[in-house]
Amino acid sequence: MVDFVVVAVTGRCNLACRYCYGLGNVRNQGDMSWETAAKILNYLKKQTNNECHPVVVQFTGGEPLLNFALIEKMIKASREENLPIIFQIQTNATLLTPQIVTQLKEWKIGIGVSLDGIPSVNDAMRPSRDGSPSTLQVVRGIELLKEEGLYVNITTVLTRESLAQLDKLIDMAYYLGNVKGISFNVMRPIGGAGNIPVLSEQEVARKVKSAVRRAQMHKDLTGHRLNFKFVERVKKYGKKIECACFRGRAIFVDTGGRVYPCPSLAGQEKFLMGNIEEESFHAKQYSSVCPYLHQCRMLDRIAG
Ligand code: SF4
Ligand code: SF4
Repeated sequence: MVDFVVVAVTGRCNLACRYCYGLGNVRNQGDMSWETAAKILNYLKKQTNNECHPVVVQFTGGEPLLNFALIEKMIKASREENLPIIFQIQTNATLLTPQIVTQLKEWKIGIGVSLDGIPSVNDAMRPSRDGSPSTLQVVRGIELLKEEGLYVNITTVLTRESLAQLDKLIDMAYYLGNVKGISFNVMRPIGGAGNIPVLSEQEVARKVKSAVRRAQMHKDLTGHRLNFKFVERVKKYGKKIECACFRGRAIFVDTGGRVYPCPSLAGQEKFLMGNIEEESFHAKQYSSVCPYLHQCRMLDRIAG
């Protein structure tokens, strides 16, 4: 039973993050076509009919706002058919405009923004394609969302650089005022991250625990709680949870309709599950182990 579907609506992006996981796979692709998107909707229609349960669809890329027209078409088509789909978007926020923000608000879509830290950290790790800093545009995007009363979740890739200033990211989240949660993503050696040093559990634990204490200090001062996704996850499911992708509950669809258990495994032939248009396509549980499980489970081990 699939309940989380990540859809890459484009391989294009206006940033050039040093660790971009999409390099070598989805980033070599163009935009998803409406034909492929319609097949995804068709698949979702069968899923939600058969199982009578809502499915979360998260738009990603590349930078998904570069193919906003397709997102709009997919949401409108699914709403016309009353499909029980909860939409989310994971964006770098640099391309948000007042018009797009108004539209996101109208659709009641969940918004995740990628941000690795204060400007000196984020600009070093997530520059624009021409090498110029991107953080001020990200902040402007988050402020546009705040002006419309919208809250965001921040997603931060943990690298040696972002860990060094993690406490300041917490301060920044409180300063922004409309950040309700943070997801940490321990860097995995994929795509552009292949040459970046892998982090030890000790260094991650020390900095992440300090960041949680920092957020508690702000909570005591302001009354506003910042949710840490890994803490919530462990509270809900315990420390022994398996990865949702490998339990067959999540899939990733690339711009050509190829299906993998997770964006991190895109392009790896042995994890290709089929194409979204294949009638025979079924999400399946894997008996083999994801090569990145160590990084993905690290925060669960630290929590508690
Ligand atoms: S914003 Fe995402 S897709 Fe774009 S370069 Fe950064 S990691 Fe890659
Ligand atoms: S363990 Fe592997 S499949 Fe699961 S979320 Fe992590 S990278 Fe993806």
